[in-house]
Amino acid sequence: MAPERIAYLDNAASTPLCTEAVEAMAPLHRELYANPTGAHRMARDTRRCIDDARDVMAEALGSAPGEIVFTGGGTEGDNLAVVGRHMQVGGVTVCSAIEHHAVLEPVEHLGGRVVSVDATGVIDLDALAAALDDSVTVVSVMLANNETGMVQPLGQVAEVVRSSASSAVLHTDAVQAFPWLDVASLAADADLISVSAHKFGGPKGVGALVVRDGVELSPLMLGGGQERGLRSGTHNAAGIAGMAAATEVVLKSRSEQVVRLAGLRDRLVDGILAAVPDTVETGARSGKVAGSAHLCFEGIESEALLFLLEDAGVYASAASSCSSGAQDPSHVLAAMGYDRMLAGGSLRLSLGYETADVDIDQALAVIPDAVARLRDYETG
Ligand code: PLP
Repeated sequence: MAPERIAYLDNAASTPLCTEAVEAMAPLHRELYANPTGAHRMARDTRRCIDDARDVMAEALGSAPGEIVFTGGGTEGDNLAVVGRHMQVGGVTVCSAIEHHAVLEPVEHLGGRVVSVDATGVIDLDALAAALDDSVTVVSVMLANNETGMVQPLGQVAEVVRSSASSAVLHTDAVQAFPWLDVASLAADADLISVSAHKFGGPKGVGALVVRDGVELSPLMLGGGQERGLRSGTHNAAGIAGMAAATEVVLKSRSEQVVRLAGLRDRLVDGILAAVPDTVETGARSGKVAGSAHLCFEGIESEALLFLLEDAGVYASAASSCSSGAQDPSHVLAAMGYDRMLAGGSLRLSLGYETADVDIDQALAVIPDAVARLRDYETG
């Protein structure tokens, strides 16, 4: 039987489109549908919407409007930063061991260096310094991790990069940070910053990459030369307008939402820790973004837990990705030193701007019982 209501606690995976984004996008589908590169009035009006969105993104990310490159989302922005830099100037790429695959895979593919993290999931600055030299041309360190929610010390990372790698630019994947942190100030020292709209109430398949003036990148796609030649292809004007509308919501309500949702997150995690023995909270709560809860339960497998939770209307995810039917252990937990067994019982509960008390009540009513059932079954 289908559950009566859904408690959606998977906002780090994707968020619902906010009303403001829906309203901003609608006219661009039916009234301003021209190709913005055109010469007629409708094209000019469409172009104006894109320019307005560029101003909004620039304010939110602490850049000049001309430094914003609209992309097809976080993966594309990350690849453009890392691969585009490597294609332009060659050299060695470097990233932390806890990066999203959209950074880690390109760095590994290019034969780059991967820097370790400590047991709480924060980059080891000494290891970073040791990995750097004048052959390094791009360093990528995320602002907040997508599994644990741990915020990285980007200012200190920038200092290490400036002092130990004279040819390097610093990229930060701010995809998970944007709903929670003032990216404009925290990433002020980064040369490249990527964000993705669907993580903060905007549509899927659209994002932005800040490319600071003077930072040279090669495009990954060649064609019509849109976005200063860095991202050819007809603009996703509706998506871009939707992202800007969602960004305005973030800028207006972020500080209030952070306080509200940190409170709900704490109630959720404290409630689970009190009710479920042999549970480890990964990372350090004080170092996490407000919407992030991440736990490992001893003696169970996340796949089975997610199945029981779904049955009871709680949608969450594990800190592992499913490829070709097999559960891959989380590279983030492995980098933090978690053994495979404990990492195999991980659960990520991620809150978003639409999360309410009732969602936390539902999760608390369901999760302890589901873990207990699985443990009984394992030992039974
Ligand atoms: N970077 C991080 C930290 C993410 O969490 C994600 C999405 O899960 C991405 C990049 C990829 O973004 P997109 O889904 O827009 O390609």
